[in-house]
Amino acid sequence: MAQAPVTVTVTGAAGNIGYSLLFRIAEGAVFGPDVPVNLRLLEITPALNAAKGVAMELADSAFNTLYDVDIFDDPNKAFEGTNLALLVGAMPRKKGMERADLISANGGIFGPQGRAINDHAADDVKVTVVGNPANTNALIAAKAAPDVPNERFTAMMRLDHTRAISQLAEKVGARNEDIKKLVVWGNHSADQHPDISYTTVNGKNAVDLVDDAWVNDVFRPRVAKRGAEIIEVRGASSAASAASGAIAHSRDWVQGTPEGDFTTVGMYSDGSHYGVPEGIVFGFPAVSRNGAWEVVDGLEISEATQAGIDKNVKALQEEFAIIQSLGLA
Ligand code: NDP
Repeated sequence: MAQAPVTVTVTGAAGNIGYSLLFRIAEGAVFGPDVPVNLRLLEITPALNAAKGVAMELADSAFNTLYDVDIFDDPNKAFEGTNLALLVGAMPRKKGMERADLISANGGIFGPQGRAINDHAADDVKVTVVGNPANTNALIAAKAAPDVPNERFTAMMRLDHTRAISQLAEKVGARNEDIKKLVVWGNHSADQHPDISYTTVNGKNAVDLVDDAWVNDVFRPRVAKRGAEIIEVRGASSAASAASGAIAHSRDWVQGTPEGDFTTVGMYSDGSHYGVPEGIVFGFPAVSRNGAWEVVDGLEISEATQAGIDKNVKALQEEFAIIQSLGLA
């Protein structure tokens, strides 16, 4: 294998998402089948043994593309030389927890991780945040990493995006690959705004194939609440599909998105797209070219889409105000 290995750090590596994610990264799903990977697993101290068990299973799989696996509970060591960071581990919302408490608890995780990325990661580091609240956690990490460009900190909106594709495909009797140019604006939360205004199905406009009532009353709420639906049916959260989303997001970032389509990425807003103010991490339509995400501009915004964008801006600005009040930004 001729290529130099890349270093990938995964946090929350012993958790449910980590358990699906690591094996696919190890097998080349992000960087391709010819690029060897060194994995660095970050866990909290009580979960180190569980991470060791996962590392043993990775070894047992004898992947050709997996070189080293190292386990840490210190972010300063875990992010040494990292090219790709997948920030999965997060503090879950506990009963009775207010949003400010949740953000504060996650500030204590994503702030130090952002600083460690700033100080120790490779110059080309790319960061995909999965742990919730993902958009604001990405922002906290970005703010703690002044030497890393803000646009390298992204929040995973890809699972929302593929949930929307799948719902539409099923409704119109198409295949997933027939569906292009869908976007989920905003926040990875119940406020998100899945939008098929620009979507085509085999070249036909999606809006001509379904009625507004289905879009507003079935499609949008179902996509936004799909996580809860999975928990109810499966009895556990949607870990494997979240891992698939993180893989697809990271793979496209590294290898590029296909021509003639776009995807959804939670990106740092620089204030120049669709009236979204600077300084929040927002789900935009995006393409990846030469290892960088670019927002797709020029889409015509309907009243309904504008209302969806505004609602998400408001929610994310409220979260931003909380991180400012906590001294995290
Ligand atoms: P999961 O691996 O299932 O989930 C991890 C994070 O991903 C959560 O924030 C969760 O948000 C989010 N998530 C889950 N499902 C989805 C989805 N479908 N779409 C988008 N995001 C999703 O959690 P576990 O509890 O199994 O594992 C967490 C691990 O992280 C534990 O092993 C823990 O020890 C570790 N951890 C590590 C830290 C560190 O490295 N410093 C810090 C904190 C925890 P939600 O809660 O909303 O479902």
